[in-house]
Amino acid sequence: MRLVEFPLHASLEGFDVVDEELVIGGIGLRRLAERVGATPFYAYSRSILEARARALRAQLPAGVHLHYAIKANPMPAVVQLLSQFTDGLDVASGREMRVALDTGVSPSLISFAGPGKSEAEISQAVAAGVTLNLESERQLDQALAAGHRLGVAPQLALRVNPSFELKGSGMKMGGGAKPFGIDEARIPALAARIEADGLALVGFHIYSGSQNLNAAALIEAQRLTVELGLKLAGSLRSGVRWINIGGGFGVPYFPGDKPLDTSVVLDALAPMAQAARASADAHLVIELGRYLVAPAGVYVCRVIDRKVSEGQVFLVVDGGLHHHLAASGNFGQVIRKNYPVAIGTAMGRAQCAVQSVVGPLCTPLDLLGDRMSLPLADVGDLVVVFQSGAYGPSASPTRFLSHPEPLEVLV
Ligand SMILES: *Cc1c(COP(=O)(O)O)cnc(C)c1O
Repeated sequence: MRLVEFPLHASLEGFDVVDEELVIGGIGLRRLAERVGATPFYAYSRSILEARARALRAQLPAGVHLHYAIKANPMPAVVQLLSQFTDGLDVASGREMRVALDTGVSPSLISFAGPGKSEAEISQAVAAGVTLNLESERQLDQALAAGHRLGVAPQLALRVNPSFELKGSGMKMGGGAKPFGIDEARIPALAARIEADGLALVGFHIYSGSQNLNAAALIEAQRLTVELGLKLAGSLRSGVRWINIGGGFGVPYFPGDKPLDTSVVLDALAPMAQAARASADAHLVIELGRYLVAPAGVYVCRVIDRKVSEGQVFLVVDGGLHHHLAASGNFGQVIRKNYPVAIGTAMGRAQCAVQSVVGPLCTPLDLLGDRMSLPLADVGDLVVVFQSGAYGPSASPTRFLSHPEPLEVLV
C-alpha cells in the first residue's frame, strides 16, 4: 500500500491548533462551521493574506509594483482586502472588472487581459478608464472605435507573445504559437497605430506562465522579459508607463515541492527595474495570483460516512471535485497527487491509519485524498484541505451533479 507524505507543516504556517482543533482567524473549526451554517465551505484568513502581501511588498525593489491577479480568488471581500496591500488589480473578464472597480482602486491601476474579450467588455473597460491589455488586432480596432464613440482616450497596453518560454512552469502562456497576446514581431506596427491615433501606449504585458517554483528559471524569464519590453519601448515615440512582466510565482502543493525563495527572485529584479527607469522611464509590474492567496485558504468538509472496502478505509465527505477541482487532481495535473489534507478536528493526533477521502459524486474522479496516513476519523469530523485559497470555487464545476454550492468566508 502506498503511503503518501505531504508538506503539511508548510501549509500550517499562519494557522493555529488548539486542543487538536484547527483555528482560523481566531475561531475554532467546529465553531466556524456553526457560524457558517453549513459544510462544505472555504475559509480565507485575513491575517495570512495581509501578512503575505506585506512580506512580499517589503521585498520589492524600487521601481517594481505588485498587482493582484484576481482570477485566483475573485471573492469581493478578498479582492477588497488585497487592494489595500497591492499597487493594482488585474482582471480577466467584465465581471472581475466590476469587482475590481467596486474596491475603489483607481481605474488606471486596473488592467484587463484575456484572449477573448467581447466587444461589450472592451467598451466597458474604455468607459471605465481601465487599461486594456490588447491581445489581437481586432481588440485594438474595437478599443479605438469605443474611444471615438464614447469621446474618451482609451488606456491601451499590448500583450506580447514572447518568442521564449518560461521553463519549469505548471502552465505555459507564452512562446511559440499561442492564443495569448500578439506575436512579438507584430507589436511595432500595432504600437505605431496607437500612436498615430494620438494616444500614448500605457505599457506592455508579457506573461509567460504560472505555478513556477524554480527561482533560476523565473529570474531568466524576467531578464528576457524586461529585455524584450525595453527593446519594444525603444521603438516608440512616447515611452510607456509600465512593463508588466507577469509573475508565475508558485506555491508548494505536493510532496517534494519546495517553497519559492521570493527574495532571490525579487533581488534579481533590482538592476532590471533600474534599467527600465533609466532607459524607458517606466516601472515594472509583477502580477501574482495564487502566491498571494493559496496558502491563506482552506476547504472544509464533513465526514458523512466511513466505509471499508476490501480492507481499505474510505471517509466519505460532503464536498469534493465539484467544489475543489484542483484538489481532486483534475485541474491541469498530469499525475494525480494529494493536496495537503488533514482532519481539522484531530490535528496532530498520534494514532493514524491509512484512509482515503472521497466526495459524494458518483465518479472515481471525486477523490480528495488517496490512501493518506491520517488521524482516525469518523462521521462528524471535519476534513480540511490546505493551500486552497486560489482556484477554488471559481475554478470548479459547481453544478456537476447538482449538489449545493460551497460557501465562502473571510475571517
Ligand atoms: C492566471 C494569470 C495570472 C495569475 O496566475 P497565478 O499562477 O495565479 O499567479 C496572472 N496573469 C495572467 C495574465 C494570468 O492569465
